[in-house]
Amino acid sequence: MPVLNSISDHSHILTEWRRQLHQQPELGFDCHQISQFVVDRLRDIGVDQIETGIAQTGLVAIINGQGDGPTIGLRADMDALPIHEESGAPWASETPGKMHACGHDGHTVMLLGAAKYLAETRNFAGRVALIFQPAEEAGGGAGVMVNEGIMDRFDIAQVYGLHNAPGVPVGHFYTTPGPIMAAVDTFDIHIQGQGGHAAMPHETRDPVVAAVAIVQAIQTISSRNHYALDDLVISVTQIHTGSAENIVPDTAYVGGTVRSFDPKVQDMVQVRLAQIVAGQAAAYAVEAKLEYNREYPATINHADNAMFAAEVAREISGPDAVLDNVGREMGAEDFSYMLQARPGAFLFLGQGDTPGLHHPAYDFNDDIIPYGASFFAKLVERAQPVGG
Ligand SMILES: [Zn+2]
Ligand SMILES: [Zn+2]
Repeated sequence: MPVLNSISDHSHILTEWRRQLHQQPELGFDCHQISQFVVDRLRDIGVDQIETGIAQTGLVAIINGQGDGPTIGLRADMDALPIHEESGAPWASETPGKMHACGHDGHTVMLLGAAKYLAETRNFAGRVALIFQPAEEAGGGAGVMVNEGIMDRFDIAQVYGLHNAPGVPVGHFYTTPGPIMAAVDTFDIHIQGQGGHAAMPHETRDPVVAAVAIVQAIQTISSRNHYALDDLVISVTQIHTGSAENIVPDTAYVGGTVRSFDPKVQDMVQVRLAQIVAGQAAAYAVEAKLEYNREYPATINHADNAMFAAEVAREISGPDAVLDNVGREMGAEDFSYMLQARPGAFLFLGQGDTPGLHHPAYDFNDDIIPYGASFFAKLVERAQPVGG
């Protein structure tokens, strides 16, 4: 079965909505206009309940199906990025320095398309919770919505999310059971030495040498402490210190990121970083302080839900257009917080040969709206069949 006919019939309206949203990008939790746009469309569509002001500008809307049954959660993100758009599209951002470079405008409209279909047909049992979240790119809006209790408050039993994928054929889906996207941690190391004249280093405690030693030693965590078959990336991305060629500085800063999939690996890295920083500080007679921050956790699909979602995707796009066991990616996604709270799955939907995510020339491909909207709608009908 291809994309749902009634969604396909409305695709020109959905495309108009998407381009309208594309012109008005908003960042982080400041998704006021897009949130109001979503509320207005949902009112027109005739959903049964709309709760706004969750995670500031997030909202949850409910559509009642037929009779009793569980509530299935469908999530879209709404926020844009601090990038200056160079797509050249007639509907390009009207705000310099902000653009929808990750296609969250498209995600929002695909979920609205599904909402329209589901509110008109109601060919499912139980309820649907449409989750529109701010602050995916930074701030972890999904985690804030979970912490504000949406899963219990709306009695959500399982939850699904979808992201567009440049470089993958239009309408092709992929997902995988288990980990699909990495956890992101960051670290900051502040080194305090004692500066002085570069010609008399014996009178200083040099933080530059200590910083370099710390960076070198960090490389041994993934090569010597880590089991080779578990995925781990540690990248030191910043060293800041110094002001002139003849001055030994007082301080140095080292910062970077850690990408992994297993909390035990995160624990190991955090312990080893602390040992390395303390040990190298002692060796070079400086003081050093480590701050280790766990940002988004790994996005871990529940195997049954991922397989089920892939089956639904095959109904939409055909058996050859869906991969259900792809490799994991080192990127991150805050939908991970929702998958920690409830079973569910995250999938990617190909949007053809376009510039990549977060690129200034990127634009969401409107041709995939009917695929994404049909997928969400069919997922509900299959997960919660009437009389099922
Ligand atoms: Zn992004
Ligand atoms: Zn994104």
